[in-house]
Amino acid sequence: MPFLWISKNGGNWSEFSLDGMNRDQLELTTDIERMRLQRCGEGWVVLFSPEILASANGLPCELRLLADRDEIVCWPIAERESHFRMIYSAERLATIRPFQRAQGAGVVFCARCRQPVAEGEPAVVCPRCGAPYHSSADWPCWTHGPQCNCCNQSTAPATDLSWTPEDL
Ligand SMILES: [Zn+2]
Ligand SMILES: [Zn+2]
Repeated sequence: MPFLWISKNGGNWSEFSLDGMNRDQLELTTDIERMRLQRCGEGWVVLFSPEILASANGLPCELRLLADRDEIVCWPIAERESHFRMIYSAERLATIRPFQRAQGAGVVFCARCRQPVAEGEPAVVCPRCGAPYHSSADWPCWTHGPQCNCCNQSTAPATDLSWTPEDL
């Protein structure tokens, strides 16, 4: 699920999750700026208010369909010394959900222990490749290894993102 990393006036990065947003529109208001995010298919479009100057990856913009790792900088026209930096990460996170077989699929096997994953059982579906894993206290198959058995997706907990703006 997508994230925004936000830093005001060069301060620490804070993370703003767009996960689980059932709304198609949200308003991001801080003391520095005001912008609107509008859902567009799987992604988000960001629109700035007229009193804001903004750039996306160094080029002036008024609105933008956010792409992974886009860097947006904006500042109020009236107050050039304050600015607001934001990086969009489309990275999706592994979440534990009751397992749901795809329609018409037969028995599905855990990519770690090779045992069947039952309908409704707590499971993680690898966000990168879709491989299913048991994910209960008794069967912690997802976190049993450092990464997915089928791709290189990290199994670290959701708070421990595999990419942060410090990597830039
Ligand atoms: Zn398993
Ligand atoms: Zn995987």
